Formats: sequence, C-alpha cells, structure tokens
Amino acid sequence: MNPQVLIIGAGPTGLVLAISLAKQQVPFRIIDKKDGPGQASRAMVVIPRTLEFYDQFGFAKDFIQGSIKIEDLSIRVEGKEKASFHIGNLGDGLSRFTSPVTYPQDEHEQFLLQQLNELGVRVEWNTELLSYQEQTTGVEVTLRQNGEQTTSVFQYICGCDGASSVTRHQMEAEFEGGTYEQEFYVMDLKGEGAPIGYHKIGMSIAAEEFTVFLPVRSGDTTRAIGVLPAYLKEKEDVTSDQVVSFMEGEYQIKVTQVNWFSTYKVHHRVAERFQQGRAFLVGDAAHVHSPVGGQGMNTGIGDAVNLGWKLAAVLQQRGNTSLLDSYEIERKKFAKVLVDTTDQAFKRIVSTSVVNKTLRKRIIPSLIPLLNRSVKVREKLFNLISQIRITYTDSPLSSGDDKHNQAGIRLPYTALNVDTLRSLDWQVHIYGEADTELQYFCEQQHLLLQAFNYDKATKQAGLVKNALYLVRPDGHLGFVCQNQDVQLLGEYLNLWGISSFRR
Ligand SMILES: Cc1cc2nc3c(=O)[nH]c(=O)nc-3n(C[C@H](O)[C@H](O)[C@H](O)COP(=O)(O)OP(=O)(O)OC[C@H]3O[C@@H](n4cnc5c(N)ncnc54)[C@H](O)[C@@H]3O)c2cc1C
Repeated sequence: MNPQVLIIGAGPTGLVLAISLAKQQVPFRIIDKKDGPGQASRAMVVIPRTLEFYDQFGFAKDFIQGSIKIEDLSIRVEGKEKASFHIGNLGDGLSRFTSPVTYPQDEHEQFLLQQLNELGVRVEWNTELLSYQEQTTGVEVTLRQNGEQTTSVFQYICGCDGASSVTRHQMEAEFEGGTYEQEFYVMDLKGEGAPIGYHKIGMSIAAEEFTVFLPVRSGDTTRAIGVLPAYLKEKEDVTSDQVVSFMEGEYQIKVTQVNWFSTYKVHHRVAERFQQGRAFLVGDAAHVHSPVGGQGMNTGIGDAVNLGWKLAAVLQQRGNTSLLDSYEIERKKFAKVLVDTTDQAFKRIVSTSVVNKTLRKRIIPSLIPLLNRSVKVREKLFNLISQIRITYTDSPLSSGDDKHNQAGIRLPYTALNVDTLRSLDWQVHIYGEADTELQYFCEQQHLLLQAFNYDKATKQAGLVKNALYLVRPDGHLGFVCQNQDVQLLGEYLNLWGISSFRR
C-alpha cells in the first residue's frame, strides 16, 4: 500500500509514533538522516505514564525486564543527607507501574527498533528531509537518500526531527523561549559514595550546582547529570578529570572509572505551532526543557501516542479530520506548563539568592519527612512525576462529567480495567450494570462495551456507579455521562465521526 504518512526522525518520539501507526495498520515510512540508531545515552528516566502506553502496545513487561526500578530517592544538600523517600510504591492504587524506571536512551531506542522490526517496519537510515511543500491533497517532500535527491507525496508528515527540526523551520514556526546560561555535564562512572545506589536516585545539591546520580543496569555503572561549577563553565575544553575532582570534593563520592563524558547546553522552548496544515511537530521538535524531572523524552512519547491514534482514525475514515486539530490544543498546553515548571524548579535549585538557599538547605528538607508520611502528598508527588494527571479537559474532544470525573482525564486506574486498553480502540466502560439499550447501541455500533463490577477498588478509584465512560484509544475519557444516555453518546460519536476498528 502507498505510504500515507512520513515520519521524519527515528529518535524515541518517531519510533513510538511508528509503532502506534504500525499497530493500527497505517502504511507509512520512517526516515532518519543518521546512518543507524542513536549511540548517545541521553534520557534515563522512564515514567509510569510511558510504561502504561507500552503496556497498551503489549511490551511493557519486556521493557521493564531491561530496566532498573527506582525504589528510593535521596536529597543531599552541601554534603549532608537532608531527606530520603521510599518511592517504589508511590503509585500504589494509582497505576500498574508504581515508580519510574531507568533505561539508557540508546538502549531504549534499540528496544523500540526491535518492536518495530517485529511489526515488519524498517527505518530508512541515511535519508534526510530537505524541504516540503504543502499541496491541496498532500505534502510533497524532498529527501536526500544515500546521497540522491528524491521527491514523494504523503497525506501527512510528522516532524519528530529533534530540537533543530527542519520541519519546524519549514513551517516558519518560532521556537519561543531561551537557553540556560549554565552548562550541563553527563558522565557514566563506576564509583561509590553516599548518593549512589542500585535502585536509587541521589540528588546532590551544592552551593550553586546540583548533580543527579542514577543507576544504569546494562553498564553496571552510575549516570551523573549535573551543572558545571562556574569556574569550569568558562573553560573551553572541560575534561572529565576536572569534573571528577569537583564531584569528589562536593558530593562525597569516589570515582574509579569514567566510561563516558560530555557537556551540553540546555534550552527551554516551545514551538509557536505544533501543526500547520498537514504537517505536525512532535517531541523535541515541538518543545525542549531542562532535564529536571526527567520529563523531556517522556513528553515526546506522549505526543506520539496522542497523534498516532488520531492520524490512524482520520486516514481510515474512522474519525473526522477535525480530530487532528485537537493534537496541538491538547499537547501544547501541557508542554508550556512543563517548560514553566521545570524552569522554575531548575532556577530554584541553582539560585544563589539567600531566600532560595534557605529554602534548599532548611525549609524543604525539614518539610520532607512530614510529607513522606502523608498519603495525599505522596499521591500528589506521584501524579506530578508520572504524568498520569495530564488532562485534556479543555479540549473540544472532551465532553461531559459524572459530577466527579470530567471528560479529558485519564481513565482512573483499577487493576481490572487496564488490560482492555490494549485494543487501542474506542470503548465504553460501565462500573456496575449496562442497560439493555446501551448494550444494543454498542452492538449496533460495533463498539466494545466493558461492564466491570462496582466494588471497593472501583469506588476508591473515584469511578461512579453505572455512569457511562467513553474511553479514547489513548486511555483518556472522551465522553462521560452520569446516566447511560445513549442519545448523548450517539451525538458525541456523530459529531466527531467516530467509529470503531471493529466496524
Ligand atoms: C545530555 C542529555 C541528557 C538528557 N537527559 C534526559 C533525561 O534524563 N530525561 C528526559 O526525559 N530527557 C532527557 N534529555 C532529552 C531527551 O534526550 C530528548 O527529549 C529526546 O531525545 C527527544 O526525542 P526525539 O525523538 O523527539 O528527538 P531526538 O532524540 O533528537 O531525535 C530526532 C531524530 O531526528 C533525526 N533528524 C533530524 N533532522 C532530520 C532530517 N532533516 N531528516 C531526517 N532525520 C532527521 C535525528 O538524526 C534524530 O535521530 C536529555 C538530552 C540530552 C542532550
């Protein structure tokens, strides 16, 4: 079949979008200008929401086998342990995946490539997008493939081509924001010391710098990501030895071997638009932020999942073209909030003001043991780091509520209601009993209807007895209704032209 979509870039974002389209039987091509998979191990932290998506794709279990689950988090300020958290069970009752895991980005990309190969798709390496031209019925792209220039036409193109995106430049979309004056370093090391541990994230804050230590399973090493001290920032060629001697002095560690070292600048930017006509920006092409919180790559993966099912629905006439407009509305808002929050967190951590120093040294550490004991606070912390609370309640695609849950939120988790999301299809959930009229309607529409027992766990999850939940392919609630109003459900489906895969 003729490829309908071109994915530009085979980083984590492009690969997840490719897996999503392949699983939904959309014909597409995926290209990358590099000559093979990425070698740089950048992002390490994979958050529970990403694991939930991998569960929907059917490979979370295999992925987790190659990862390290984060059980503990410790915060050290100027050499002293100020707080420690057990976070291994932070998300108990909120998600199947109760804490983040670490997985080096290069190995993560290899894992996704293997999943894609098993679906019969190969990345076209050495193939670069040079430019594109939008036409009324498609997009003509000019590519350079193994040195030769070619043109092809696609219905849609997805720029997953990273922070220096050619797609974004072609769109003439501004990349609004700035660049941090601080310089970051990343190092894979063997060593020991208080902030280092196999299942632990150790955050060490010095006077004006910080370093995060994370375990790397495959290399049996520790990844250190941090901010260079001011006296090294000005230097032309900072060496790993200089950074090791700084770290050993500040963070009570002893480094015995350095396997990899690099320095880099960090930007905080969001593209002016995520869509223009038939072209989309996804992942780092659309937003970049400080590594505080380890959310960058995960957010790109969330974008890819959001766009993947919408493209499939539109191309297979299972949804109106207007579904695609909701991509920017839903994802840009979150990207902006994320850039702002990580920016504020980063500035507080590196700030030299007296207020911030006191906050770091005394106030936050003294509050943490109290917070550690509060179930509500632990829940809030999990919601923050896991991205399970991303809501699309302002999206035109979200309609209705049951007085407790508003359409647009992620389907509240129960141990029983997640397996069914592997269908990657629209479905109706009832917690209680489904009316005959609803059963008949769903049968006529070929819409999957799932009726679950209304029990203690369901109640705890906040689901309302006998309410109607129409769940989108990405696990968010599209339409919610307190009673099982078939007419309203039908109106919603008609408005968006939604029909199921099974039709
Ligand atoms: C040192 C470092 C540490 C980081 N740590 C973290 C972390 O701990 N947690 C986190 O979440 N994030 C982290 N990040 C950010 C994370 O790496 C990115 O968010 C992630 O790589 C984005 O994935 P992507 O697929 O959108 O873009 P990329 O990974 O940049 O992939 C883009 C791909 O597009 C290809 N491409 C570009 N232009 C073209 C073209 N014209 N034609 C064809 N192909 C093209 C490129 O070759 C590349 O393979 C870190 C980044 C750095 C630099």
